[in-house]
Amino acid sequence: MEMWYCRVCGLDYDVSPWGEDGHTPDYTCCACCGAQFGIDDYNVVTAQLFRATWLTEGAPWFYANLKPSGWQLAAQLPQIPLAYQ
Ligand SMILES: [Zn+2]
Repeated sequence: MEMWYCRVCGLDYDVSPWGEDGHTPDYTCCACCGAQFGIDDYNVVTAQLFRATWLTEGAPWFYANLKPSGWQLAAQLPQIPLAYQ
């Protein structure tokens, strides 16, 4: 199965929140950056804006209990899809 990566923070997902067709966001929030799929990652501009704010705040996990031990921001950011960097 192909992984899907958050357009804002690069977190990997087994199932795309943008649906099988890639055009049907479920409007849930990323566990890591908290971006709302379909809104905050709608295009490269919104993704960059949300990312800049999130990074300024110190890149906190939206669902802190899901943050893996040993999580590395620098290792995750390069996973952001090229078109949204
Ligand atoms: Zn994210």
